[in-house]
Amino acid sequence: MDADVVVVGGGSTGLAAAIGAAAKGARVVLLEKNPQLGGTSARSIGTIAATQTADQRREGIVDSADAHFEDMGRFSQHHADRPDNAVLARVLADNVPESVRLLSEWGAVFLGPLDEHLHRKPRLHQIMPSSTAYIYHAERHARKIGVEIVTEARVNKLLTANGEVTGVEFERDGKAQSVTAARGVILASGDYAADPGFKAQFISEAVAATEAVNPTNTGDGHRMALALGARIINPDMYGGGMRFVRPAKPGWQSRLPPWQWLMRVASVMLRRTPRSLMRPFIMGFMTTVMVPERKLFQEGAILINSKGERFADETQRMVFELALQPDGAGYILFDDSLAQKYTRWPHFISTAPGIAFAYLRDYQKTRPDLYHRGDTLAVLARSLGMDAAALQLTVDRYNTAAVRGDRPAIGQGPYHVLGPVKNYINYTDGGLAVNTGLQVLGKGDAPIPRLYAAGATGQGGLLLKGHGNHLGWGFTSGRLAGHYAAQLAPRSSTQG
Ligand SMILES: Cc1cc2nc3c(=O)[nH]c(=O)nc-3n(C[C@H](O)[C@H](O)[C@H](O)COP(=O)(O)OP(=O)(O)OC[C@H]3O[C@@H](n4cnc5c(N)ncnc54)[C@H](O)[C@@H]3O)c2cc1C
Repeated sequence: MDADVVVVGGGSTGLAAAIGAAAKGARVVLLEKNPQLGGTSARSIGTIAATQTADQRREGIVDSADAHFEDMGRFSQHHADRPDNAVLARVLADNVPESVRLLSEWGAVFLGPLDEHLHRKPRLHQIMPSSTAYIYHAERHARKIGVEIVTEARVNKLLTANGEVTGVEFERDGKAQSVTAARGVILASGDYAADPGFKAQFISEAVAATEAVNPTNTGDGHRMALALGARIINPDMYGGGMRFVRPAKPGWQSRLPPWQWLMRVASVMLRRTPRSLMRPFIMGFMTTVMVPERKLFQEGAILINSKGERFADETQRMVFELALQPDGAGYILFDDSLAQKYTRWPHFISTAPGIAFAYLRDYQKTRPDLYHRGDTLAVLARSLGMDAAALQLTVDRYNTAAVRGDRPAIGQGPYHVLGPVKNYINYTDGGLAVNTGLQVLGKGDAPIPRLYAAGATGQGGLLLKGHGNHLGWGFTSGRLAGHYAAQLAPRSSTQG
């Protein structure tokens, strides 16, 4: 196999890179190790932050790349120990409007723009009906313009000659194969959230023991580039923390086909429909991916395992001990007065910024699989298959002032449980060092010839705090890397 440009990975970044290169006339091969494209991008909430878009214009929002750039700085200012890469942040703010324009051209339809604290203008664009639509539209477009997509092809090694990257070696059907790249290789293989080794090395042992939302994010691209002298900057994790497990069968909202005409109708309906009527649609989607608020614990809920035991201080930001419980699962137990309180504003169980707030009744209706109720602790224990005596002991112990401190005791029944919850690392930051041309930097910060990285793999020290900037960076840096690689003179001519 040979190509002008080889792209490693088929998430948002890889597809944008492949399309970017093919649009400049390159012959592109995209290799994806999983049976389906999508990666973490297809498991995300799906917001993208961008300015000057058609959606902003329709709502009369006047916004600019300069304002987006400045607001990114307001999100990342709390990380003085890890300076942001302002040069790449500028690349993102300047070029993400074009990424959203292209996504719309390929068929994507967005809800919003939605607000987020610290973004001075509403600029979060929520793809409809879910993030899988990014992949659906980008894959269709990539195939239409001639990108060759090979799935179940795990890239293991970068091939080199005379100090240049010349292609990749990959495994398919148990056989080692290779593809040469006349112009360049683009690493778009996501992050290392599921690699215990990298997580322990760069972040901590506790993070290493915690599951990743995407279990196939094993830092392959990082590892291949490190072998050629690259380095990783600003490693960190974004712990989504405790999340309700996904439903066995996604709700009808998540299963809607992302057809453009249907999403356009849905988007107009959602904009024009009173919020109270919109709620069931939004809740059906939201409660499949949501995180319980920490406030619930601060106000007296406790976290127990499947044996009915409390095992950690549940008010911490990340309860790392959760990963060590049976099945890595926990259950949130609270009394009836807290249950009544969490039925209305401002006491919500979860929120998606700018989209909506989910109360206890929303979970009862849309996620009955997560909700358990018992008039007594013994009845509740039975419905959860827990030891009733152990559960009673846990509550009695917690209720002693010495244990619960200032938090309220667990009072009268009926008692309520939401769960299982598991702890997840959403994604890890800390991409390879790259320059503004998305070239991977090697020894002495010199570009490694013909090697590019983008998205999570080529994050180059960007902090990308705030919502919507990771996907923005993926689509934007991918597209630019595709352009740059396609425009390089092919190897044979440079080698004379
Ligand atoms: C729950 C959740 C919610 C999120 N919500 C948002 C949000 O709303 N907005 C936002 O901006 N960001 C969000 N993010 C973050 C965002 O999804 C990611 O940062 C982004 O999708 C990364 O894109 P990527 O293309 O770089 O990586 P990925 O989407 O992970 O794609 C990498 C691809 O490379 C493939 N691959 C890996 N190794 C190899 C190999 N050796 N050979 C071949 N293929 C390989 C993988 O299988 C994968 O398909 C969220 C993340 C999570 C987990």
